[in-house]
Amino acid sequence: MSETRPDDRFDTLAVHAGQAPEATTGAIMPPIFQTSTYVQPAIAEPLGGIYDYARVANPTREALERNLAALEGGSHGLAFASGLSAIECVIKRLSAGDHVVSEENTYGGTTRMFSRVLEKLGVAFTYVDTRDPEAVAAAITPATRLVHVETPTNPMMRLCDIAAVAEIAHAAGALLMVDNTFASPYNQRPLELGADLVVHSTTKYLNGHSDVIGGALIVRDQELFDDLAFVRKSTGAVPGPMDAWLTLRGTKTLHLRMQRHNASGQRIAEWLEAHPKVDRVVYPGLPSHPQHELARRQMSGFTGMISVDVGTLDRARGLVEHTRLFQLAESLGGVESLISVPARMTHASVPAERRERMGVTDGLVRLSVGIEDADDLIADLSRALD
Ligand SMILES: *Cc1c(COP(=O)(O)O)cnc(C)c1O
Repeated sequence: MSETRPDDRFDTLAVHAGQAPEATTGAIMPPIFQTSTYVQPAIAEPLGGIYDYARVANPTREALERNLAALEGGSHGLAFASGLSAIECVIKRLSAGDHVVSEENTYGGTTRMFSRVLEKLGVAFTYVDTRDPEAVAAAITPATRLVHVETPTNPMMRLCDIAAVAEIAHAAGALLMVDNTFASPYNQRPLELGADLVVHSTTKYLNGHSDVIGGALIVRDQELFDDLAFVRKSTGAVPGPMDAWLTLRGTKTLHLRMQRHNASGQRIAEWLEAHPKVDRVVYPGLPSHPQHELARRQMSGFTGMISVDVGTLDRARGLVEHTRLFQLAESLGGVESLISVPARMTHASVPAERRERMGVTDGLVRLSVGIEDADDLIADLSRALD
């Protein structure tokens, strides 16, 4: 079990929570329990009461889960094979006929899973602009069991007032799930603001090294945790122990990495806003962001994610194909800087009409600012913009 104390602060929890020296040797790193099954001393008497099969329980995975729960201020974590399988697990707790209200500008793959896979099974989804809590309230029906929001959203950096929407969901007897992938728990802790479930694509900031696909759910309620653990055990989307171990190594430096992502993100957003070839910069840390006040209230830092509109696909192509340090790729949150054109890459599966409405134009370029030297990154963008 974790050696941390309840009053330990975030940076200490990042390094230590969920881990203790290994009992036999004192190894300071949690071992990678690369095993599919466990030898039982007697029939149906697994060691620890739980170690009967590795889909159900794995000590490396559990160390990661305790660490993530501590960082989000939750009581329990559940690790998954991907961010999408974590979200899917929550929907699979529901039944045909149930209804979900979802932010319309989620990660493209989330909307694709809802509308093209899960809707066929009889769960209904309504997509709304969750910047407006009244729109959430208006979409709720007697069948609504879940509200799913993402804040900041990808790639338009829309914010949702978590505390306000939690109240609306709870008044209707529904749970609130917050996709906290973009902010990371270093900058925003939704459970403390009233959310019931936090979901992560750990692929991004939490792992932070662009070498693992993974997901996680974090909750505070024992019954909800038991339900989700049952669905995961029954459906099977667990991460392998090596991936859990790599992600745990990533979270040890989350606070240091986020400090640099936040600082360089802010600096580069300000620099871009002053650049004559950039039409618009979308970044919650800029006073020009329409929800800057909310950002300051519910977040403590604004990440390395920036969207800029350069007008046309041609100009977007000119930018993303001429940077050297910002490499053209999907994904985000790693130590290295990435650049992409959402309308043609991550959000190509979103219907064009909805893309237009949200502002995901062909000239929109998304930056994931890494932890390289910020002056080098600015010089790189400056050359490519010219
Ligand atoms: C990447 C991402 C996901 C999906 O996670 P995978 O690990 O790719 O399955 C979900 N939500 C957000 C905000 C993401 O960025």
